[in-house]
Amino acid sequence: MSQSHQSTDRETLIATLRDYVEQIREEGLDGLPSDTSNAARGAAEKSGRLRDTVAAPVGSRVAAPAGSPAVEPSSKYPGLQSQSSLEQVREFIGDCRRCKLWPMRTNLVFGVGNPAAELMFVGEAPGADEDLRGEPFVGRAGQLLTDIIERGMGMPRSEVYICNVIKCRPPGNRNPEPDEVASCEPFLLRQIEIVRPRVIVGLGTFAVQALLKVKTPISRLRGNWHELRGIRMMPTFHPAYLLRNPADKRLVWQDIQLVMNELGRPIPKRGGA
Ligand code: URA
Repeated sequence: MSQSHQSTDRETLIATLRDYVEQIREEGLDGLPSDTSNAARGAAEKSGRLRDTVAAPVGSRVAAPAGSPAVEPSSKYPGLQSQSSLEQVREFIGDCRRCKLWPMRTNLVFGVGNPAAELMFVGEAPGADEDLRGEPFVGRAGQLLTDIIERGMGMPRSEVYICNVIKCRPPGNRNPEPDEVASCEPFLLRQIEIVRPRVIVGLGTFAVQALLKVKTPISRLRGNWHELRGIRMMPTFHPAYLLRNPADKRLVWQDIQLVMNELGRPIPKRGGA
């Protein structure tokens, strides 16, 4: 085989593995047929490069075991509970060095939007664009989320509140690790308590598993209502997953329609973008 064929084959293999890894990140290993997931896992483990992402068992990225945390996260940072506005919480966080992500970040990405929003979106962690801008969901996946909100739901992006489980970008967009989630979780919970939205939309496997403390894949969680501290929560696919799997946009549109019904809002005619 010629050298150029070999390198094309290698590139194809790498691209395929990258797709599998991304899908596993979004849906968990249960989201793939078992033979495919085993093949992807085996190949990825062999390569070594993907060990962090793939070799761990499903749900090992979840911050804490299923069920209620033994220690209430808010008690981790004395004084946090008395911060009564989002600005105060941001100030409390300061130039955060509470976990190992701080030396790699450009900006801490706290959250953006209406502090009295009825609807809150929670994603996983900032990517490269968000790290540079200091604002969640501003890259390609963010553009799709904005389309879902503005064209699909007929609401200005500024009317909702958007944040992530993790406030600093994990290097190379790897999955956040349990200690990083544990460090950031009290801030997310305080944001939720302050905004007190009527509905939270959890975006993607990681965010939803971390919020609900479950290990169930997103493909089984989405489309059903859950409860988070007395707030209705709808899990759905992450916009980054939708960029790779546009056919599943229709499932997200179904989830969004449930959210719109719950909020008592009209569903725009040309929604589902
Ligand atoms: N993905 C996320 O989960 N959050 C962002 O802010 C951007 C991409």
